[in-house]
Amino acid sequence: MGSHQARKRFGQNFLTDQAIIQRLVRSIAPKPDDLMVEIGPGQGALTRPLMDAVDHLHAVELDRDLIALLQRTLSERRLTIHQADALRFDFSTLSSGPRSLRVVGNLPYNISTPLMFHLIEQISEVRDMHFMLQKEMVDRLVAVPGTSDWGRLSVMIQYHCRTDFLFPVPPGAFNPPPRVDSAIVRLTPHDQLPAPVTDYTLFSELVNQVFTQRRKAVRNGLKRYLTAAEINAAGVDPGLRPDCLSLADFATLANTVAAARA
Ligand code: SAM
Repeated sequence: MGSHQARKRFGQNFLTDQAIIQRLVRSIAPKPDDLMVEIGPGQGALTRPLMDAVDHLHAVELDRDLIALLQRTLSERRLTIHQADALRFDFSTLSSGPRSLRVVGNLPYNISTPLMFHLIEQISEVRDMHFMLQKEMVDRLVAVPGTSDWGRLSVMIQYHCRTDFLFPVPPGAFNPPPRVDSAIVRLTPHDQLPAPVTDYTLFSELVNQVFTQRRKAVRNGLKRYLTAAEINAAGVDPGLRPDCLSLADFATLANTVAAARA
């Protein structure tokens, strides 16, 4: 190992700290018959211990050189490498039914937000996801209303998943060290949505719209959808800033708009 020059454009920061790797694998608690897929195996820092724990592992990697390296060093019998862009990969092709896929990855930080939304589109296939991400992003994923981290990402991901901050990871755990702090997050899709909406596209559009004006009262961001009186009637104070609204508030507002349009 070590023969591969890390590529910045692929967001390559390889995990080298064995204690962190073991702690992450313990948190994932892989079982032999788990249907596990690793995004961005890189040089195999996580791939090896995962392969030791599951009967078969799938991996999605973009960099051909790394794939060649992995194929030289790891047993093909127990690993299927898909050379693909994870942002376009159809994870449902690996699934064996609803809630079957366990997704793991030390993700390239430049693609982590779009990748999160891509995976959400296939969330019915997913049992859980464990990701190493920039710590700031984990803070936003696990945020609660009324804090500066609470925003579109928090609302849209928490709509589908419970989010748990597992532990922080310092730059020194990687080679080369990234310029930012990292952390591990666990995303567990809800068995039952806590705040279901009747029109998901509308909900997504509304959350987006409201947070583009996060410093203004929510009635400003909702102008296109509802009057202040209608917001009030839905049980939400129209004078609040968007970062004070809960997931349930956003769902209620979206459902109010949908009902008015029906
Ligand atoms: N898992 C390894 C580790 O922990 O050492 C590597 C982590 S590195 C931060 C990210 C990995 O994702 C690299 O191997 C990189 O080539 C790969 N990658 C980057 N963009 C990707 C994409 N769009 N789809 C799939 N893999 C990608």
